[in-house]
Amino acid sequence: MQTVSTIQNHSMQVLSKADCHCHTVFSDGTLTPIALLDLAKEKQLTGLSITDHDTVDAYPIALPYAKELGITLVPGIEISATYQNTSIHVLGYAFDLSNSALRIFCEKLQEQRETRNHKILAKLAHINLPVTMDEIQERFPGGTIGRPHIAKLMVEKGYVKTMQKAFQRFLGEKQRCYVGGMTITVPEAIGVIHDAGGFAVLAHPHGLRPKMLEALCEMPFDGLEVYYGHLSLKQEQPILSIAVRKNWLITGGSDFHGEKKSFHGLGCSFTPADTFDQFVARTLKNQMAIA
Ligand code: AMP
Ligand code: ZN
Ligand code: FE
Ligand code: FE
Repeated sequence: MQTVSTIQNHSMQVLSKADCHCHTVFSDGTLTPIALLDLAKEKQLTGLSITDHDTVDAYPIALPYAKELGITLVPGIEISATYQNTSIHVLGYAFDLSNSALRIFCEKLQEQRETRNHKILAKLAHINLPVTMDEIQERFPGGTIGRPHIAKLMVEKGYVKTMQKAFQRFLGEKQRCYVGGMTITVPEAIGVIHDAGGFAVLAHPHGLRPKMLEALCEMPFDGLEVYYGHLSLKQEQPILSIAVRKNWLITGGSDFHGEKKSFHGLGCSFTPADTFDQFVARTLKNQMAIA
């Protein structure tokens, strides 16, 4: 059994200056991969993993530029899976970016999203809050489109004051314009990441109900996202103790989406150095060209 002092030792472990959770315009972030890397440099980060939702399309642009800046960029993704009608995010790291099964999987996720987005827009139109696919494509060209993009357009069109309101009143689970339809299971997401040679990590587990967290931790994850945004030590501690008990990787990242969310400033959470070393070693093993 782990003693408290072991856990405290772990919480005082050596952190890298690597933020392993952030988004670009290829999903719902506001910065391009280039601008994100410039900001990472400005903040003196030495490592980064871009974890866009359901896509790795930032990497062809990001990899050569990270190399130029001397930032170690590890392949990453945040996969939208579903468990018991709840959306669960599965982070993948250090996988082979050219893995064709992963590519096909991402395409499948994009198709599911497109079908779902059309259904959401139909529901909005039905209550006289029209947002069109053309408007979305013009405002957000390329990348994974989801509820945050629809919410942003609803704000810009004056339907609601804030994105939060758009979720609370219309797009959130149980609200009238909510559509499920993302059918990837958590073990499926883990399997795809493993098959592509990567590590699978449960994203932001601190927010999950205890029973659900327990069930998810029976699945073949490799790690838990212990350090996240500006979480307090008290919020980190229960997750840290699970990771230690299971001998899983401990990761950390900001979940940066753009400068607006101060809870998620780039570089506000880091991945421990020994985990990041493993990410780099695995990335190299998967024959990635990184800085
Ligand atoms: P989707 O992947 O299209 O289902 O959208 C999920 C994303 O919407 C999450 O990653 C969050 O960034 C955002 N989101 C979910 N619920 C809320 C909420 N209540 N308020 C603001 N953003 C939310
Ligand atoms: Zn997001
Ligand atoms: Fe997430
Ligand atoms: Fe995220």
